[in-house]
Amino acid sequence: LKAEWDKLKDAKTVTADGKHIELAANIGTPKDLEGVNNNGGEAVGLYRTEFLYMDSPDFPTEDDQYQAYKAVLEGMAGKPVVVRTMDIGGDKELPYLQLPHEMNPFLGYRAIRICLAEDAMFRTQLRALLRASVHGQLRIMFPMIATLQEFRSAKALLDEEKAKLIAEGVEVASDIQVGIMIEIPAAAVIADKFAKEVDFFSVGTNDLIQYTMAADRMNERVSYLYQPYNPSILRLIKNVIDAAHAEGKWAGMCGEMAGDQTAVPLLVGLGLDEFSMSATSILKTRSLMKRLDTAKMAELADKAINECDTADEVVALVDSYTK
Ligand code: PEP
Ligand code: MG
Repeated sequence: LKAEWDKLKDAKTVTADGKHIELAANIGTPKDLEGVNNNGGEAVGLYRTEFLYMDSPDFPTEDDQYQAYKAVLEGMAGKPVVVRTMDIGGDKELPYLQLPHEMNPFLGYRAIRICLAEDAMFRTQLRALLRASVHGQLRIMFPMIATLQEFRSAKALLDEEKAKLIAEGVEVASDIQVGIMIEIPAAAVIADKFAKEVDFFSVGTNDLIQYTMAADRMNERVSYLYQPYNPSILRLIKNVIDAAHAEGKWAGMCGEMAGDQTAVPLLVGLGLDEFSMSATSILKTRSLMKRLDTAKMAELADKAINECDTADEVVALVDSYTK
C-alpha cells in the first residue's frame, strides 16, 4: 500500500473514468508546506490564518502577515492557495483581544462577525493578502458567512483596500478569486443566491454538521448526533455543489469530511470539485479516487439522498458500492 501511495505522489488525481479532482491540503502555518509537498498536495485548500494571531503576543503587523502569506504562496509555486481570513472566537481565543463572555460562543461573536465589527484589524489582514497576491495564485475565503450582506461588506472592504494599494502604486494580482466557507446552514440553503456573487464555495463540514444537527462538535454526550452521513447533511452539500455549478463556479470542501474514506465516494458522486484535508490523508484519498467511477458514484449519491432514511443506511449503501 505504502509503495502504491508513493507512486501517486507526483500523479494528478483522476477517477477511474478520467475525471480530474483537485486534492488540496489544510495548513495552519507556512511550516506545514513541507507535509503538503511531501504528500503530493495539488493546492492549499484552507490556510487557517488564525494561528498567525494565536501564536503572536499581539496583533500580527501587516508586514508579519505579508511575509507569512508570501511564504505560503511561493512555497506552493503557483499552485492555488486558499487563505481563510481570521476565524477567532468559538473555541479560539486571543489573549490580547478582549472578547465578551458569552453563553454560546459558537453562536456568538466569531470570525467574520468580529472582522466586520473591528474593521481596522480586518483591513490590515486584507492589505497583507493583497500585497502578497503577486507571489502566487491567491484565493481569499471568508469564514462563517451567514448572509449576503456579510459577504458584500467583506468584499467591499477588500475592494477598498485594493483600490488604495493600487493608488499607492503597489502591485496587486488581478485574478484573485474571492469565496466563502459554507458552514452555516442558512448559507447552504440559499447557496444559489451566493453563487451569483462569489467565485467559489468551500464547505466547512466541521461547523456545518454541528449547526445543522444542533450538536456541539466538542461535546461527547451529543457526539452520536454528529452525523456526516445524515441525509440532511448530504442534501445541504448537494444544494451547495449544484448551486455553484449552475453559475459556473467551483465547490470544494475543507472540513474533516473531505478526507473521510466513507464520505469521499458520496462527494465524488455529488460532483465536488476540490477536496481539502490534512496532508497525511491525500495519498490514500488519491488511491481511493482512482478506483471510483463518477457515474456509478452519482447513482450512489442519488440513492443515499433519496432512498436512505438514516446515516447508518447511507454507510451500508456506500459499503455495498465500494466493497
Ligand atoms: C469547518 O468548520 O469545517 C472548518 C474547516 O473550519 P474550522 O474547523 O477551522 O472551524
Ligand atoms: Mg469552521
